Amino acid sequence: MAVKQFKAESKKLLDLMINSIYTNKEIFLRELISNASDAVDKLRFQSLTDNTVGIDTDDFAITLVPDKEARTLRIIDNGIGMTKDELENNLGTIAKSGSLDFKTNNTSEEIDIIGQFGVGFYSAFMVASKITVVSRAFGSDEAWMWESEGADGYSIEPATKNSVGTEITLTLKENTENENYDRFADEYGIQTLVKKYSDYIRYPIKMMVTHSHPIPKPEDAGDDWEQEYEDHSELETLNSMIPIWKRKKSETSDEEYNEFYKNNFYDYNDPARIITASGEGAVNYNAVLFIPEKTPYDFYTKEFKKGLALYSSGVMIMEKCEDLLPDYFNFVRGVVDSSDLSLNISRELLQQNHQLRLIRKNIEKKIKNELVSMIKNDREKYEAFWTAFGRVLKFGVYTNYGMHKDTLSDLLIFYSAKEEKMITLDEYVTAMPEAQKYIYFAASDSVERAAKLPNTEAVLDHGFDVLLCTDDVDEFCFQMMRNFKEKEFKNVGSGNLELETDEEKEAAKAAAEENKSILEALKDALNGKVKAVKTSSVLKDHPVALSSEGPISIEMEKVLKNMPGNDGVKSEKILEINENHPVFASLKQTAADGNSEKLALYVSILYEQARLIEGLPVEDPIAYAKAVCSLMN
Ligand code: ADP
Ligand code: MG
Repeated sequence: MAVKQFKAESKKLLDLMINSIYTNKEIFLRELISNASDAVDKLRFQSLTDNTVGIDTDDFAITLVPDKEARTLRIIDNGIGMTKDELENNLGTIAKSGSLDFKTNNTSEEIDIIGQFGVGFYSAFMVASKITVVSRAFGSDEAWMWESEGADGYSIEPATKNSVGTEITLTLKENTENENYDRFADEYGIQTLVKKYSDYIRYPIKMMVTHSHPIPKPEDAGDDWEQEYEDHSELETLNSMIPIWKRKKSETSDEEYNEFYKNNFYDYNDPARIITASGEGAVNYNAVLFIPEKTPYDFYTKEFKKGLALYSSGVMIMEKCEDLLPDYFNFVRGVVDSSDLSLNISRELLQQNHQLRLIRKNIEKKIKNELVSMIKNDREKYEAFWTAFGRVLKFGVYTNYGMHKDTLSDLLIFYSAKEEKMITLDEYVTAMPEAQKYIYFAASDSVERAAKLPNTEAVLDHGFDVLLCTDDVDEFCFQMMRNFKEKEFKNVGSGNLELETDEEKEAAKAAAEENKSILEALKDALNGKVKAVKTSSVLKDHPVALSSEGPISIEMEKVLKNMPGNDGVKSEKILEINENHPVFASLKQTAADGNSEKLALYVSILYEQARLIEGLPVEDPIAYAKAVCSLMN
């Protein structure tokens, strides 16, 4: 029997491919099963118009026969088969796809051909030292055997086969130190691979599966009876066949989606939301996406990886394709299936893939719309979602220099001091009285504390709402956004809240002028701790408050203090004194008496108090304690 050489380019390619296209040996099975599925698809398509096919639709199948002893694996299909020429052309030439030709010649919706690149078949050489293909084409009464041991070439000779279809026998390579090829002739190993890669192949993938049963105890068994087991084999279908994402949402129950989600994404809870998406035209795909209800336990750790499972015509390409999701929607789980993607596409090529980018864009829009509809129609659920994943959206606003802030700003919710519940920025702005210029917010470590800050109370007293922020990213997020619907964000602790009327402003100016010398004296007494001491007319019951000027607020100072390398970044503080408070009268009196020592004592106590109210530590606890005690003498 003559060994024919592979076509020249094929020989080089074959080596290249076995060694570089695939990094993962186990995918060979996915490739051969996909080919078998394509072959069955072709014959089934034929049977739609041709009653000589003689196979019932229900009888189309792919059968796997592993043989541990012989170290072989057979993949058998009752598909269209190959003629002698086809064996030579399709298997003898790399990058020659009979399936692509078929697809080009038949554009019916009835067919769902997977292959198109003509390289999958050769992946079997990653695990096999010899491949034997016996095939009988539909409409032919002769069968042929094609055989190859790798790059050196192949032989082809007549064979016998009773039925139409193809039978591929892989003789597995010898085990090496690094690879145990036996696992590809192992029942359980194969079941796992089929589930992982080929679960949604539309024809049954069958295999004899062995089960072990305990033998019942015989009635006359003595005390020394020991449990024995009996093996028993059954032909089973390994794949579940119908991909849920290909079904219409209206024809699929929430329970079915929930089960699919829980089985595939390792969650005990039902998802909070099910999203389906599909595209036709520029890019063909189906997707089913889930928003989890709870934060996965590893979500905020480095181990967490975002991504959606990526399939090509029902065959898995990648378990987690990162490029399908922006970081700020990293919590979404699900599956994308596109017939436009090749099974063999590498990670690097995927990143630049135009279709993939289109899919990502569509998906992103879908997710956003779903969240917006949740805000409108199911606020309670959205708040639960926000508790689990809100931080991610806020980080999304802040990172990449605010590139995505417009996409995300509608999705943000914050606690309203006035409404005492979570509201959107749009709701805040809509409720603003005409006189209000800013979106006010207060940042602190708890809602209660933020609500009680002197300046929060001052703004609320004016009838303006304040968003109470407790997440360290909040303020950075506002800083990046700068404004929402043309309203600027304003920290209530930033001084200059512009609450006063024009008259009040005039009066304040006059008061500042009048109190100039004492304010100077107070500032000097604080010895550089504050940038200025000012009088305030908006503080109601509080004698003093701290505010800040410049880009770093007091809350940001606290956040930065906890970040390595940023300790020492300080806000520029302003000590505000309530000009209508008896404390200020007392300060004025002390200054008038010329008692500068006492003045320094008083102002140092007031300064530390203002720090305490802001949630900052007392700067010098010992001096502070002494100062308070000295008041009692
Ligand atoms: P692709 O599937 O991308 O076309 P492959 O290398 O996997 O590339 O297969 C090459 C060609 O060999 C297929 O297009 C098909 O024409 C043919 N072929 C492979 N396996 C079978 C099979 N089991 N039955 C019939 N034809 C097959
Ligand atoms: Mg293929």
